[in-house]
Amino acid sequence: MHSNFILRGHVLSYSASPFETQTPEEAVVVSAAVALAEGRIVGCGTFEEMKALQPQAEVIDHGARLILAGFVDAHVHYPQTAIIASWGKRLIDWLNSYTFPEEMRFGDAAYAQEIAERYLDLTLANGTTTVCSFATIHPESVDAFFTAAKARGQRVVTGKTCMDRNAPEGLRDTVQSAYDDSKALIERWHGVDRLEYAITPRFSPTSTPEQLAAMGALWSEHPECLMQTHLSEQLDEIEWVKTLFPQARDYLDTYEEFGLLGARGLYGHAIHLQERERHRLREYGAALVHCPTSNTFIGSGLFDMAGLMAEGQRIGLATDTGGGSSFSMLRTMAAAYEVGQLRGRPLHAAELIWLATQGSATALRMEDKIGNIAPGMEADLVVLDLSSTPAIAQRSARAADLWEAVFPTLMMGDDRAVTEVWVNGQRQ
Ligand SMILES: [Zn+2]
Repeated sequence: MHSNFILRGHVLSYSASPFETQTPEEAVVVSAAVALAEGRIVGCGTFEEMKALQPQAEVIDHGARLILAGFVDAHVHYPQTAIIASWGKRLIDWLNSYTFPEEMRFGDAAYAQEIAERYLDLTLANGTTTVCSFATIHPESVDAFFTAAKARGQRVVTGKTCMDRNAPEGLRDTVQSAYDDSKALIERWHGVDRLEYAITPRFSPTSTPEQLAAMGALWSEHPECLMQTHLSEQLDEIEWVKTLFPQARDYLDTYEEFGLLGARGLYGHAIHLQERERHRLREYGAALVHCPTSNTFIGSGLFDMAGLMAEGQRIGLATDTGGGSSFSMLRTMAAAYEVGQLRGRPLHAAELIWLATQGSATALRMEDKIGNIAPGMEADLVVLDLSSTPAIAQRSARAADLWEAVFPTLMMGDDRAVTEVWVNGQRQ
């Protein structure tokens, strides 16, 4: 049931990437109102203009609140919801100690359903309207996630995680079953409502060359699908990849050789990249996904945002739940800011918000549908209270301009700052 609405507040839209304009602020247009009809954004401008556009619409006045496109989280593992914030391990031990035992449980469709619902409830409460998630090796885990997202009207991406080696018994598929199950899931789900399928080899250490080749073949048969995986997260992992693929020129080559490098490819982390890898990623227009809370939590390293942006890479932002330590894209923006500081280049609030909305939407190749407030876009919105806690309120009260008012919420805000969330033109 859609109907027409006008939301008043500080409506923030982008006319360009703030990484490409002279100053980040120049990329931003702030309007006083946005009009929604039948699940779409139909206009933004002055309140009078929106009222003239839709005289019958219900008006919701948000006063000084900020109205943004809903957050887009470009790399998560929804099955890790219940093991978020597990102590003391680095990547490989973390997978073996915490992740794999939990993922084992997702062959149980009822458990998968419970966690899918819990995950989407938590992320919606944090203002995240679109996610791109890894599932587990079980087709049931994909069915559960798509079923839960479909009921909420959400635009989401997921795919069956494929692993046929270096994972415990019960959590390995085969070359053939990975291909067959993935193909059946594409046919069942891809393009249903707002759902999209991503071909999902977990990372090259857990797939044989034969399985990577089968995934590459599947992608060439279904070029409309995204492909998601992990790349160069930790130095130990890179050494391990070298021993598993002695012929490969570098980590990216273990994907490239098997047809798993492409414009609709998403490469999570991408921290310790070689020159050749950067060059090839840029050449293909592939997307790198920055997961700053995960990179500090698991101790992986510092993503080179400034360098990679300057060379024209396509970059999204993500929580990497549950390797990441938060469901909140606000907390994730704060971590991206901190990582930027450690690399010598602080990110502007306009850049952080762009990464969490339009940047991630661009990584998912959905920038014409979500991630910005503009006529014709799908109406996924988040409304933020910029004084949501006493600590934030006393700081934003001192603000000389909008950016100074916004920044404390990006650094210190959480789900308490999220006052309203809209999905596909419907208030949640
Ligand atoms: Zn991940």
